[in-house]
Amino acid sequence: MAKRIVECERCKYYPNQNPVPGEGNPEAEIIFVGEAPGAKENETGRPFVGAAGQFLEEMLNSIGLERSDVFIANCLKYQPPGNRDPLPDEISFQLPFLKKQIAIIKPKLIVFLGRHAMKALLPGNEAPISAIHGQLIEEKGQFYLPLYHPAAALYKESTKQTHLDDFAKIPGYMDKIYAETDR
Ligand code: URA
Repeated sequence: MAKRIVECERCKYYPNQNPVPGEGNPEAEIIFVGEAPGAKENETGRPFVGAAGQFLEEMLNSIGLERSDVFIANCLKYQPPGNRDPLPDEISFQLPFLKKQIAIIKPKLIVFLGRHAMKALLPGNEAPISAIHGQLIEEKGQFYLPLYHPAAALYKESTKQTHLDDFAKIPGYMDKIYAETDR
C-alpha cells in the first residue's frame, strides 16, 4: 500500500510535497488516524513526527505502548498547502488508501485523532468531538474511539490532562472489545 500511495499521481496536488503513507505494525490491534501531514511529516515522509507527534508518543507510552506496537496514519497522505483544511476532492482521492490500509490491518480499534478523521470515516456521526471524545463507539462490528487531536494540547496546555485521561481508557476498552469479539 505504501508503494501504491507513493506512486499515486492523482493524490499529489502540488509540487514539493512528499507522500506520508503511514507506519507501524501491519498487524496492529489499534490504528490511530490523524488528519493530514504537517511540515515535519512532509519533510520526513513519516506521520506524527512533529510536536503533536511527540505528545502522541508520550500518550502511547503512558499506557505502555510504543509507536511500533500500533499503526499511525492520516486521512490525507499529503500535506495540504499552507496547512489548510483538506478539500473535498483531496479527501475523495486519498481516503480510499486509508480505507484499504484499515481493511488490510483489520484493527480491533480505530482511534480518531480529531474531528476530521471522525468525519471522514464515520460521516453519519454528527456529534461534535467535544461531546463524544473518550467514548467507545461500535458501528457495524467495528469499534471506534474519537479523541481530541493531540495538537489541541499544544495550543491549550490545560487540556493535556483530558487527552491523557481519554488515552488511559484505551486498555479497558481493549479488554471490553476482546471480551465482545471473543478473541
Ligand atoms: N497532524 C496530523 O493530523 N497528522 C500528522 O501526521 C501530523 C500532525
